Amino acid sequence: MSGHLMGVYNRAPVEVERGEGARLYAADGTVYLDCVMGISTNALGHAHPKLVQALKDQAEKLWHVSNIFKIPGQDALADRLCQNSFADVVFFTNSGTEAVECALKTARKYHSANGQPERIDIYGFDGSFHGRTYGAINAAANPSYTDGFGPPMAGFHQLKWGDHDAIKAAIAQPTTAAIIVEPVQGEGGCRAMPEQCLRGLRELCDEYGVLIIFDEVQCGMGRTGKLWAHEWAGMAPDIMAIAKALGGGFPVGACLATAEAAKGMTVGAHGSTFGGNPLAMAVGNAAFEEISKPETLANVNEIAGYLKQQLHGLKERFPDVIADVRGKGLLIGIKLIPNNREFMGWARDENHLLVAGGGDNCVRMLPPLNFTRDDAAEAIARFEKTCEFARGKMAG
Ligand SMILES: *Cc1c(COP(=O)(O)O)cnc(C)c1O
Repeated sequence: MSGHLMGVYNRAPVEVERGEGARLYAADGTVYLDCVMGISTNALGHAHPKLVQALKDQAEKLWHVSNIFKIPGQDALADRLCQNSFADVVFFTNSGTEAVECALKTARKYHSANGQPERIDIYGFDGSFHGRTYGAINAAANPSYTDGFGPPMAGFHQLKWGDHDAIKAAIAQPTTAAIIVEPVQGEGGCRAMPEQCLRGLRELCDEYGVLIIFDEVQCGMGRTGKLWAHEWAGMAPDIMAIAKALGGGFPVGACLATAEAAKGMTVGAHGSTFGGNPLAMAVGNAAFEEISKPETLANVNEIAGYLKQQLHGLKERFPDVIADVRGKGLLIGIKLIPNNREFMGWARDENHLLVAGGGDNCVRMLPPLNFTRDDAAEAIARFEKTCEFARGKMAG
């Protein structure tokens, strides 16, 4: 154990060695059923053969040239993303928070290019997570991520989830640039914004010339059973940040926008040395092809339906352990009565099931999108045993 890593993480005491599909193999021989998947990132499981091949092939050809040159694979992935979304243009990044940063900058630059540079205010929602850059922590305004990092950044404001009057008042302000929302919150505990609220937000923002930014870094790329979470609401944003599953486990993100919303993003307005590098593009194209297949999305809906039904059954049987089952598709939140961090440890150490933590005392089940019915049944059996174990612990 090295003492030289910055102490910002409380890491699980598992020496991971290798992954295959939904299984994670530890150095001591323990095999875990992985419902964390690198935090909903390895959407096709560990070491998917097509992704491994794409990375190997590209690794032998070209790693990096920077965006001073045309990068192989960037046009192809941008075409795929735009042909399958509301967007006209894409900027590639290395991470989710960089995609959010680009989205925030695109929104402000739009108004400035429109001759309204006073429109700088960006409204985020409580319980959100947008990543760890200064822009992202100010947009989410979670005190545990902003405390000690200096004054709040000018032009960032918070709205309460569901406070319609405050939302309307904010959008009507002449200095408002954009609203940033996760259609389904991830880290915050899998809260989905009701579909009629998303549609209402669209109408209001159109009325006042305010842009909508969706952060689909976690809920996008098939996770909810449609390629984009907002598709369920039959509306679209002006700008969208994506990452996590985009590379199936290889670091890559993207900011998507309509041509109109991106009109301020002209030569020199933004950039990245590594963003959209050939390795990321090779894996991203291979991952997109698999994830966007109708059979992959159909599998998400089928498995999600099964897991939800089983988890609701467990909630009936363990009302002393499970308080709520929520989320959308395979972004499943289980709000617990015992401490969620402890529960995660019991799932991992007693039952070799990996689940992720989340806000509001939730654990999240984030299995791969190609999770099989057998693996889903096994996940439920292990979760059930963990509930029994938790009940025993709570009884003392
Ligand atoms: C993970 C996440 C981010 C940040 O992504 P990083 O790749 O960690 O920078 C932003 N928004 C949401 C919704 C996320 O889940």
